[in-house]
Amino acid sequence: MKKIAVLTSGGDSPGMNAAVRAVVRTAIYNNIEVYGVYHGYQGLVEDDIHKLELGSVGDTIQRGGTFLFSARCPEFKEEDVRKVAIENLRKREIEGLVVIGGDGSYRGAQRISEECKEIQTIGIPGTIDNDINGTDFTIGFDTALNTIIDSVDKIRDTASSHARTFIVEVMGRDCGDLALWAGLSVGAETIVVPEVNTEIKEVAEKIEQGIKRGKKHSIVMVAEGCMSGQECAEELSKYINIDTRVSVLGHIQRGGSPSGADRVLASRLGGHAVELLMSGETAKGVGIKHNQLTATPFDEIFGHSDHKFDKQIYQLAKELSI
Ligand code: ADP
Repeated sequence: MKKIAVLTSGGDSPGMNAAVRAVVRTAIYNNIEVYGVYHGYQGLVEDDIHKLELGSVGDTIQRGGTFLFSARCPEFKEEDVRKVAIENLRKREIEGLVVIGGDGSYRGAQRISEECKEIQTIGIPGTIDNDINGTDFTIGFDTALNTIIDSVDKIRDTASSHARTFIVEVMGRDCGDLALWAGLSVGAETIVVPEVNTEIKEVAEKIEQGIKRGKKHSIVMVAEGCMSGQECAEELSKYINIDTRVSVLGHIQRGGSPSGADRVLASRLGGHAVELLMSGETAKGVGIKHNQLTATPFDEIFGHSDHKFDKQIYQLAKELSI
């Protein structure tokens, strides 16, 4: 393997730069040339591909976002469009492509490796949602979790001053991990996630019992994929007459300097992706399971869900917030 390329795609996440840096430096350490594809698959199609040097990734490990930029490129689902992208790689004799993103991005990589046998592809899980199979954690999850904790700690100060119930809406379309982990970390009274059927009437009863026991405030942590914070507040108001406020944390969860855990994860996964390419592997997503580096075929990642919601953590959060 003499030349590889790397791109970031889909929703960005803190730590993507650290992953690109690890890919670039591991490759150069092994005498492999590296090309950066700017603006995700869009840049692959438009030939926005540039050689990266050791210095290209200097001063990036601590930065959020992605210096390669990310984009959605719905046209990439069309074979004719992918042909152009593949040709842009082939004319530079690029034999390996590392795609950092979510499972939509992995699907694009899978198509490339199916349609051009000379190009190996490896995916690195970059998303704050922690919703990718084949890994215990995705790059960006820990940073987003800490951003939520920091925000809710502040919300808690004002919540207790005014004896209010705050409904905090966090990201997570189909996966409640951010709400779950953040809920446990901030001592939320209730966690509302897509994986568990929650009766809002019971949430109202719990808040009421808390108030009777003298609780100054309550935090309800809601994953956006389950219901919006506003919907949750409206539902609650059918059962209980309390002073509620909704806080939608939104895109601040995607930004910020990556946490130590994310920098380490991104560096390990980036290095492993290059090692896999060098050993001839293709169409796999790297991950971490029980602190061991892993590689799972894209087919398995899409095929079945091993990224199970952790019911033990959910139960523990419930027991600790009575
Ligand atoms: P994420 O990677 O975060 O899940 P998306 O689902 O938006 O984000 O996917 C990112 C990009 O990956 C899309 O804009 C598109 O270019 C590409 N992509 C997604 N699904 C496919 C597919 N089925 N075939 C080819 N490319 C795809």
